[in-house]
Amino acid sequence: MQLYNKLSAKERATLIEEAGEDRLTLSFYAYAKIGNPKLFRNYLFIAWDAMEVLGRIYIAHEGINAQLSVPAKKFDEFKNFLDSIYFLENIRLNIAIEHDLKSFLKLKVKVRDKIVADGLEDESFDVTNKGVHVDADKFNELLNDPNTILVDMRNHYESEIGHFKGAVTPDVDTFRDSLSIIEEDLKEHKEDKNLVMYCTGGIRCEKASAYYKHKGFKKVFQLEGGIIEYARQVENLSLENKFVGKNFVFDHRRGERITDEVISNCHQCGKACDTHVNCANEACHLLFIQCEECSKTMDTCCSNTCKEINALPFEEQKALRKGIPNSNKIFKKGRSEVLKYKH
Ligand SMILES: [Zn+2]
Ligand SMILES: [Zn+2]
Repeated sequence: MQLYNKLSAKERATLIEEAGEDRLTLSFYAYAKIGNPKLFRNYLFIAWDAMEVLGRIYIAHEGINAQLSVPAKKFDEFKNFLDSIYFLENIRLNIAIEHDLKSFLKLKVKVRDKIVADGLEDESFDVTNKGVHVDADKFNELLNDPNTILVDMRNHYESEIGHFKGAVTPDVDTFRDSLSIIEEDLKEHKEDKNLVMYCTGGIRCEKASAYYKHKGFKKVFQLEGGIIEYARQVENLSLENKFVGKNFVFDHRRGERITDEVISNCHQCGKACDTHVNCANEACHLLFIQCEECSKTMDTCCSNTCKEINALPFEEQKALRKGIPNSNKIFKKGRSEVLKYKH
């Protein structure tokens, strides 16, 4: 029995091109108690491989997080398969508006510790005991209620370029940090206030909502499908849009513009700007906000040191990097002393 890919990415790309069929790009997640993630992983792989599904899927004891591309003509079969699994029945599928035929070139189903890296060791709470999901309309209604505390569950570099008006935006680097900060800040209001949360696509808030319920919060709500789904509903149903700026996304686009307002600044010159870049020096890769002018003068680098390194021939850069571990933390945190307008 074949449990892994045999085709290379290149062979797969050629195949898709030749087939010339429409594919749908979609994503979904679900928290569930999965007793044997490895077994479930193999079950999905066999079924989806047969349907020519491609994508990146993570399975953990706490659930599944999937980004997929499905042949259009196999979609019904795929949907029926999902409905046959009790915790995926009628699951909300996030179907992308633009379909890139080559968004995924392989089917990768991986077993992980968690589907959301939260750093929590507390296994005592039930991630499936979540708060109340609300749609855009109900969310707006809650925001008009003076008894509501609205919390952005994303990291500082995400809320910096766009967020809901009036939201608490914790200055944190990780999801774990925001969980404890918010808990501390709001502990007086466990019973009386509506705790309303949102994130990019809903997966983080859903876990946060279960966490806060476990911690004794009584009225916990989260925006279903996150900012992505909110923007869609606001547009389709002509609702009031309470989001300002850009929605940070984790693909090459970095951000999806929701409104024209620019609410952040270039980290180097301070002028209004909400374009994220990664420092061009491969050894640095710092994520920061840089305007076009600064990008030109700095060669898209975060500092003069990085600019100098980046100007060296590739082989010399490689020699410099030797033995120095590439700090992925820098990329995640998006903070640096070298940035005048962001520390
Ligand atoms: Zn600038
Ligand atoms: Zn740099």
